[in-house]
Amino acid sequence: MKINPDFANTIREIRDKALEERSHSRKVVNWVEDHRLRSGPGKAIVFILPTKGCSWALSRSGGCSICGYIYDNPQEPNFENMMKTFKEKLHDSIKDGENCSLKLFTSGSFLDTSEIPEEIQKEILKEASQYKEITEIVLESRPEYVTKKIMQTIKESIDIRKIEIAIGLESANDEILKKSINKGFFWEDFEKAAARIFDVGAKVKAYLLFKPPFISEYDSIKDVLQSVSKLNRLGVDTISINAISIHRGTYLSIMFEKNQYRTPWLWSLLHLCKEIKSKYPNLRLICDVVAGGTQRGAHNCGDCDKQIIDALKQFVLSQNIEDINSEFICSCKTEWKSFLLQEKITIS
Ligand code: SF4
Ligand SMILES: [Zn+2]
Repeated sequence: MKINPDFANTIREIRDKALEERSHSRKVVNWVEDHRLRSGPGKAIVFILPTKGCSWALSRSGGCSICGYIYDNPQEPNFENMMKTFKEKLHDSIKDGENCSLKLFTSGSFLDTSEIPEEIQKEILKEASQYKEITEIVLESRPEYVTKKIMQTIKESIDIRKIEIAIGLESANDEILKKSINKGFFWEDFEKAAARIFDVGAKVKAYLLFKPPFISEYDSIKDVLQSVSKLNRLGVDTISINAISIHRGTYLSIMFEKNQYRTPWLWSLLHLCKEIKSKYPNLRLICDVVAGGTQRGAHNCGDCDKQIIDALKQFVLSQNIEDINSEFICSCKTEWKSFLLQEKITIS
């Protein structure tokens, strides 16, 4: 069994209550941001497409313990409006001759046909294929929707070498997936999906979650390093380390409100990025800090947060370890070290 039924039931009860306030309709959200392309620093055009949202979050298993994205998805998607806005905004965002990445997010799975019907998936990809400036396209999906058939359909719609399927693996440790995140799949499912992606010539991006509930920060550092090693052996060349930020209406948000959870330290992220990049210099390592410097996101003491977040941003764009290798000095570094030890003892 890939879930713990008691844990899943508790998550579902929290979810059901929070879902009552979900809005009925929502517009396409879109922005342009700095991004590390395979070819070097550049821009990404990001779309959040208003689908019904993640099927796993809406299932009787309640979804992941840490995720509240579903509350931003509408109950009744309107694909006609969505396509019209998508085409207009994409056209307006492209800059002639400037290569960019296109990130197509749904706060769920782009490849789930109950979220986006196959015809709409194809129409979106055909539209994107008209722009030579778009050199990379990121589509997020859970592994179960990465079928041979769907990968073949994508291959028929667009140059498959541009496609990167981003999967929220979170951890390569099945115990953590089951008991801490309620992910509903295991490492072997990720492995099989990755094989289907590689088979058609597309690329895989993996998200790893830093510090899920019930795991001490120290153990999560170890887990991320072990997961990166397994991903590297599999041939995954882009990994994004996502430090927890607290989403409302989640199991984790309740722990946080009861002071049973501290969001990760920026020192830990800095340590992780240094370790990983020095061991795997060719890996494209992403580490975007959401809500960084606040209590609900990765943070230090408040005095040194900005300089570390800025250094991490610069490092992600340059992929040059020198950007994070300088000696950052702050008195809270000692506090971080004793926290790692103390929290590990408490959780054990
Ligand atoms: S983390 Fe991903 S799979 Fe889990 S509930 Fe959120 S969108 Fe769904
Ligand atoms: Zn500090």
